[in-house]
Amino acid sequence: MKQKKAIVVGAGLGGMSAAIRLTADGYQVKLIEKNSNLGGKLNRREGKGFTFDTGPSILTMPWVLEQLFESVHRRLEDYITVERVEPQWRTFFEDGTQLDVTSDLPNMLEEMAKVTDKPNRKFTDFLSYSQEMYELCMKSFYKYSIQDLKDLKSHHKLKELFQMDPMSTVARSTHKHFDNKYLEQLFNFFVMYVGSNPYSSPAILNQLVYVQLGLGIHYVKGGMYQIAEAMGRLMEELRVDVQLNTPVQQLVVEGDRVVGVETEDGTVHEADVVVSNLEVIPAYRRLAPNSSKVKKETKSLEKKFDPTVSGLVLLLGTDKKFENLKHHNFFFSEDPEKEFKQIFDQGKPADDPTIYIGISSRSDDSQAPAGKDNLFVLTHVPPLANKKRKPIDWDQYREKVLDKLERMGMTGLRDSIEFEYRFTPEDLESLYGPNGGSIYGIAADRKNNGGFKIPSKSQVYEGLYFVGGSTHPGGGVPMVTLSGQLTADLIKEKESPKVKQA
Ligand SMILES: Cc1cc2nc3c(=O)[nH]c(=O)nc-3n(C[C@H](O)[C@H](O)[C@H](O)COP(=O)(O)OP(=O)(O)OC[C@H]3O[C@@H](n4cnc5c(N)ncnc54)[C@H](O)[C@@H]3O)c2cc1C
Repeated sequence: MKQKKAIVVGAGLGGMSAAIRLTADGYQVKLIEKNSNLGGKLNRREGKGFTFDTGPSILTMPWVLEQLFESVHRRLEDYITVERVEPQWRTFFEDGTQLDVTSDLPNMLEEMAKVTDKPNRKFTDFLSYSQEMYELCMKSFYKYSIQDLKDLKSHHKLKELFQMDPMSTVARSTHKHFDNKYLEQLFNFFVMYVGSNPYSSPAILNQLVYVQLGLGIHYVKGGMYQIAEAMGRLMEELRVDVQLNTPVQQLVVEGDRVVGVETEDGTVHEADVVVSNLEVIPAYRRLAPNSSKVKKETKSLEKKFDPTVSGLVLLLGTDKKFENLKHHNFFFSEDPEKEFKQIFDQGKPADDPTIYIGISSRSDDSQAPAGKDNLFVLTHVPPLANKKRKPIDWDQYREKVLDKLERMGMTGLRDSIEFEYRFTPEDLESLYGPNGGSIYGIAADRKNNGGFKIPSKSQVYEGLYFVGGSTHPGGGVPMVTLSGQLTADLIKEKESPKVKQA
């Protein structure tokens, strides 16, 4: 039988994961990427002896990467070294309170005692609640390409669906468990791993607390970009035909079936299936024919699926070390409700934003010269697509960020900067193509979409599938890597006749 051909558009983690899994299912795979390197948002930048991961800095659920490598009979540890990071986060509150988050439970309880009289019972209850959510997801969300509630129901008993706390939001549930402003703000922030608003995202996302505290957070030696390098090596071994610097211009369609893609140089590449790692909405807007069917689908998706937050990223190489900071640090806002309202409802950057600083050189000397720090500073801001959003003066906003950091303990930060580079939502959109420069794909919203994402199988064309942050199970390194695997399973199930095994 003739070997089937698959084309993957985009070499983000979702695209590479799909490409790897499709080879295991017998496809001859071509991966076409517009940029000059693999990894998409997982990227890196160097200057004046500093190295920065410019996208993800926190790795959770490394089992997803292990599972991908195992699916093609490889061991992840032969490609990268994954290490746990402890303490996981250092957090700073506006009133001077400082609290370390750690997976060492006795230590975590001691930390919590700084802000509450009786940390034990509340915390263990919350952790078991969060673990239960995670385990429910392991039965469905993390195993199959789920499309909607009907799909979800086919994997769970009614009792389990109620255990998912469907009537509650992340913030309502943390309030119920803690009724403590510090702990609510801290645990609500975990949902920013998927770029959503804790006040409107479904409570099931509180599982992210178990994902971090129970399963740990991790770093890849040599920098997170090593993950992209490892997948690149693996694709070479599997003979995936990788074409860099090759933007896809449009989908090639015959009737209601996608039969290939055309690249900007005019070449037509034929395929039995096309997998888009470009998000679903931009893929329909930019690559699909301008038909009434496509327009109708795009409009209906836009109504239901808002992009997640975008970000202002400052890469700062400093001539000294900020000794009080750990590998991962959060400088919280004074009023989180106001902060999220401004970003999500009013479409403007928060007056007082929460700021994340990652310093990979705390775990890895190779990332900064001796005695210096490589600061990855991320502030979440609304995506460009937010209709209410006005143009933003990024120079001014940078000053606000630096003012806050200096006020909260990073004395002399401005004067210490010897290397600086900046990414804005405009840069993220033009570099990787996500809707409005969205960092994590689609925002989970209990009312709008129930936390479901856009189906991985196109509702418009046969032979067209999606991977990455806008589709199931969502954004972030583990989720998009899982999406590649789950979409490959879906392709195997939907596309017939069965393909020849390689
Ligand atoms: C600043 C920042 C910080 C983050 N921090 C974390 C973190 O700490 N932990 C975590 O888990 N996640 C984090 N994330 C999120 C994580 O990086 C993303 O969810 C994930 O990398 C997205 O992968 P993807 O496969 O969905 O898409 P992308 O990485 O966006 O890949 C899409 C690819 O498609 C290509 N493409 C687009 N259009 C075309 C075209 N027409 N032709 C050919 N190719 C095309 C793009 O160039 C790109 O390579 C962060 C992201 C950012 C930006």
